[in-house]
Amino acid sequence: MEVIIAEDLWGPVPDWFLQKWAVVYDHDLGLDPARLTETCSQAKALVVRNRTQVNRELIEHLPNLRVVGRLGVGVENLDLDALAERGVSVVTARGANANAVAEYVIAALFEHARFLGRLSGETKQGQWNRASGIGRELHGKTLGLIGFGEIGQRVASRAHALGLEIIAYDPLLHPAHPAVHDGGVRQKSLADVCREADYLSLHVPLTANTRHLIGAAEFASMKREAVLINTARGGVVDESALLHSLQEHPHRFAVLDVREHEPPSQPDALAQLPNVLLTPHIAGLTHESQAQVTDRVLRELHT
Ligand code: NAD
Repeated sequence: MEVIIAEDLWGPVPDWFLQKWAVVYDHDLGLDPARLTETCSQAKALVVRNRTQVNRELIEHLPNLRVVGRLGVGVENLDLDALAERGVSVVTARGANANAVAEYVIAALFEHARFLGRLSGETKQGQWNRASGIGRELHGKTLGLIGFGEIGQRVASRAHALGLEIIAYDPLLHPAHPAVHDGGVRQKSLADVCREADYLSLHVPLTANTRHLIGAAEFASMKREAVLINTARGGVVDESALLHSLQEHPHRFAVLDVREHEPPSQPDALAQLPNVLLTPHIAGLTHESQAQVTDRVLRELHT
């Protein structure tokens, strides 16, 4: 089987895989549709991350394609209808980077509560400013989770151990699910979670139903000092409503790993705000998670 790996594995192609299949590995290929079409004409398997657009036009040019491997979880860059029509299966790495994202969320909670980065910068410059170092405790605060799947559940168990109260909104979640039942998680409506959360963390896929799920109405109901953490997809949040909310409420805070446009167009109004922390879509990226993602997707390619 000929396999095209069209984006970065963040590591070498494993030996066991090279021994099994004929592999073309070119981590910039996915960004060049013309070269991709030409290179892939005989491919039976195509492996991508989130930048290659696996659209109908590309699929039509790949007559032998049997399987697409997605090195990650979201599938917004795959035309699932077109793939299904052609009988092409899709393999994702669901759960393989869930610990990484969950730990990022916990890091974001602590960064907001204790701001070690800022304090280190000030202290290295010779300041000894204890007054600006007064933090907050997470214990006893309420964490609202929107989406309670692989990542939401891992965030909940970690946050529960830190003494946070957990409330969650997920319409597909059964109240008898052990993660809810045994983990002390209270299920609520979207409106209640937004209103009651000190920290609101998003863990839903981007779909027609979740686009702008968090918009002006949700921001209007949030606490004066609410903190939003978005590691899901930028489009789940209406960024103009978020901008307005953060400008109007300087004590609110947002930690954004994902954006509506990546990288964001410049000038980026959100980046100018002091009450925003930005990272470049790395919540799921750890050495451990990427090894697992690669292993999971490549092993399942032949099925
Ligand atoms: P998952 O499929 O295990 O869980 C998603 C949950 O969302 C499910 O329980 C589902 O019932 C729920 N859901 C769906 N529609 C909903 C809605 N309208 N309202 C509330 N809940 C809804 O997925 P996961 O592994 O937990 O990942 C969640 C998302 O995180 C992914 O889809 C991906 O977009 C994102 N992600 C980001 C990174 C990163 O690096 N920033 C890494 C991995 C995943």
